[in-house]
Amino acid sequence: MTRILLLGGTGDALRIARQLGPEHVYSLAGLGKVPDDLPCRVRVGGFGGREGMARYIEDERIGLVIDATHPYAAQISANAAKASGAARIPCWALRREEWQPQAGDDWRMVDDWAELAAALAAFKRPLFTLGREPLAHLDEIPPQQFWTVRCLDANESGPRARILAARGPFTLEGERTLFNAEAFDVVVSKNSGGSATEAKLEVARERDLPVIMLRRPELPAVDREFANVPDLLEALQVIG
Ligand code: NAP
Repeated sequence: MTRILLLGGTGDALRIARQLGPEHVYSLAGLGKVPDDLPCRVRVGGFGGREGMARYIEDERIGLVIDATHPYAAQISANAAKASGAARIPCWALRREEWQPQAGDDWRMVDDWAELAAALAAFKRPLFTLGREPLAHLDEIPPQQFWTVRCLDANESGPRARILAARGPFTLEGERTLFNAEAFDVVVSKNSGGSATEAKLEVARERDLPVIMLRRPELPAVDREFANVPDLLEALQVIG
């Protein structure tokens, strides 16, 4: 039996965790909801860097690490590749394909917050769908802008910002209603891929709205990469 350490924090990771037996471990950073109905073990919180993860792998006699974290969670992915390399066990990763711009889309690619803020200057009512990062910049909102920040946190909204606590998946109808009500003039997004949060891009397309897209970080090379959950689960059946 190969004991698996599954690194999660995404809907896809949860789908994999539901298929793992009690000898395997599902690991979460501890920022969101911790499921209490899984057949496998669940551990919560950081390992203490790559050395901490390497120690955990050894102590728990882990035989395979599966990195199913979000594509923008670059630190834990780097740690997983290094720690499993040091322990001489394989590291697999679930890497969702990126969304691609379609005909008529106006995507403005940025690498970091400074580039994002510059790209945003021309707009008045952005919808941020980047997680909690904009919350650290609420005191930088220019006088002509009103921000809507959609994230998991239920923070208080300010005079020039509204924090919308919401968890995907988001439907096309729901997004249309939100865009109608709030009259956004630009969408700010990560290129997360997958279908759960894709509807906003379709509504942006319908309304001819530009999208400021934060580029994905570089992720480490791994032993095997999968683009979807069924392919990964099939490969797991082969190793037993
Ligand atoms: P990150 O910057 O790559 O990781 C920061 C630190 O958090 C890691 O060094 C590690 O601490 C701990 N950590 C992260 N994921 C962990 C896991 N699954 N199990 C145990 N420890 C974990 O990650 P992040 O961007 O802050 O994201 C945190 C979590 O939220 C990830 O698990 C990710 O899958 C999920 N998430 C992230 C995003 C996003 O946009 N970044 C979106 C949706 C979900 P130690 O160094 O102490 O081990």
